[in-house]
Amino acid sequence: MVCLVGSGPEDIRAELAFPTETPDIVLKRATDFLLDSEEQFGDIAAIGFASFGPVDLHTDSPTFGHVTRTPKIGWSSVDVVGWIRRTLDKPVAFDTDVNGAGIGEYEWGAGRGLNNFAYVTVGTGIGGGIILDGQPLRGVSHPEIGHIRPHHDRERDPFPGVCPFHGDCLEGLASGSAIVARWNGTLEELGPDHKSMQLEAGYLAHLCAELTYIVSPQKIILGGGVAAAPGLLPAVRRRTSETISGYLSDELYGDALDDYIVEPGLGNRAGALGALAMARRLVLGSA
Ligand SMILES: [Zn+2]
Repeated sequence: MVCLVGSGPEDIRAELAFPTETPDIVLKRATDFLLDSEEQFGDIAAIGFASFGPVDLHTDSPTFGHVTRTPKIGWSSVDVVGWIRRTLDKPVAFDTDVNGAGIGEYEWGAGRGLNNFAYVTVGTGIGGGIILDGQPLRGVSHPEIGHIRPHHDRERDPFPGVCPFHGDCLEGLASGSAIVARWNGTLEELGPDHKSMQLEAGYLAHLCAELTYIVSPQKIILGGGVAAAPGLLPAVRRRTSETISGYLSDELYGDALDDYIVEPGLGNRAGALGALAMARRLVLGSA
């Protein structure tokens, strides 16, 4: 959990980071931090909360602002927005962590000036948002692109997957949790020559190809701790190009894809700065 107080990446007044524990501990720590910051810096105008999902984003729903059904212990059905509003009487913007990061990248990072891009994070889990004209794509709920099912060659990769809902979906096979469960180490620890690198690149290339076919984004931003492993991004570009080129324009999707599949402009702060961008939008009236 990362909390920031400020008005943008160049104006961070206070910051606090701590591990995600049970909801009462986490939410109390976060709201205490904001109350302390108000004493120090004056009134906070609005609050943005970018949460792991799944969450209810429908403002007319009785469970708006709740984390819904999650494997994270103690977090199912927790009313995050209600908790914040009970403690601090402020406007609250609420979205998924990946939509938040996408908004941050649109405002200040690699998505600036783009009409349509995908933000994907590959960390403990895998999630992603589609940002259209600056707004996250929503439907009945929010996209869950980490749970698509990639081709799983069980001879090459007999690992059954770790997703509690689907087993060998993308998150089940290619998330940080899956990598550690399969090889007892992270990509970085295993090194670029270990077979984990090509396997991981193949699964993420599958996602990039699917996104390309379905959304036709101008860019795919790949963030998160796993995606930052040295050598992974170039391997994902290469495998994506192999997967899609020849069908879509080689001019657009061939060669290196250096400007197409990119790292976040805001680095590992995309999520936290995204929540700040969400709050800022409330204040500026562009939410
Ligand atoms: Zn899954």
